Amino acid sequence: MMPDKSAITRAVQTAYSDHAKDTGGANASYIPYLASVDPSLFGVCVVTADGDVFEAGDTGFEFALESISKVFSMTLAMQDVGLREFHDKVGADPTGEPFNSVMAVAMHDNKPVSPLVNAGAMSTVSLIPAESPDDRWEKILDMQSAFAGRKIKLSDAVNDSEQSTNFHNRAIAWLLYSGGTMYSDPMEACEVYTRQCSTLVTTRDLAAMGATVAARGRNPVTGKQVFDASLVPPILAEMTMEGMYTSSGDWAYKVGLPSKSGVGGGILAVMPGTLAIAAFSPPLDPVGNSVRGQKAVAQVAAALNLNIYNST
Ligand code: GLU
Repeated sequence: MMPDKSAITRAVQTAYSDHAKDTGGANASYIPYLASVDPSLFGVCVVTADGDVFEAGDTGFEFALESISKVFSMTLAMQDVGLREFHDKVGADPTGEPFNSVMAVAMHDNKPVSPLVNAGAMSTVSLIPAESPDDRWEKILDMQSAFAGRKIKLSDAVNDSEQSTNFHNRAIAWLLYSGGTMYSDPMEACEVYTRQCSTLVTTRDLAAMGATVAARGRNPVTGKQVFDASLVPPILAEMTMEGMYTSSGDWAYKVGLPSKSGVGGGILAVMPGTLAIAAFSPPLDPVGNSVRGQKAVAQVAAALNLNIYNST
């Protein structure tokens, strides 16, 4: 059931003001660009499945999408290759390992464990049918834009910073290739994957992207059907299993909303049929999730009594 507008306004404002002065955590430092972002930035935004927007703080600041991009490329791959084939090639299990683990290349079933960590995400990119790496990249960027409801752009600064330091991901791409689970040239897949992480979004964009999932694949702001509604359950299942890195289980237990975070400091949470909550704050906990972002999303969800495991 849709919470009333005054309750959403209050929940967003309170989550922002209660945590605006919080400290703790540290910006990701392994990507030079991310280390340089102002750690005091903080934004909270809700977009409902009806397209209403509620926001507080720095919701117009553009930050690197990073791992949250994996949700949109996964959707594209599910749509273009079909759910069954996608699931035959990329798993849907928690990895229990850090986001950049080489173990996630194949722990069982001889396929990458999850499309929402680096190994499975690069395999996912390689699966997207395309005529060339540029064509594949355009499709991914168009998908991000359709989810957000505005043209999303690559940041050259983020991309240069990542492409020149992504040796670990290149190694993972070669491991996938040697294991037979890379479906394009591995270095091209790694390059396109790195680009998809280097686009800029605002907290408002992120909430609109989540609201598109909440509204069964239809962007509630533009009215455009972005993907088929049949993909919503597997998207949410993947987010539940691995969306919050190694805290995914604790997050499901405590918050109960399928979510995805990125090392740029963004978090996106979806209450299907109802709304999405997005938050942004660069300092991360040791697992890789935004410290203030988690608090803000959890607080909004609790205030509005939103939890997929509590469907009364
Ligand atoms: N581009 C980052 C990487 O591949 C994304 C990591 C993340 O946000 O989890 O290392």
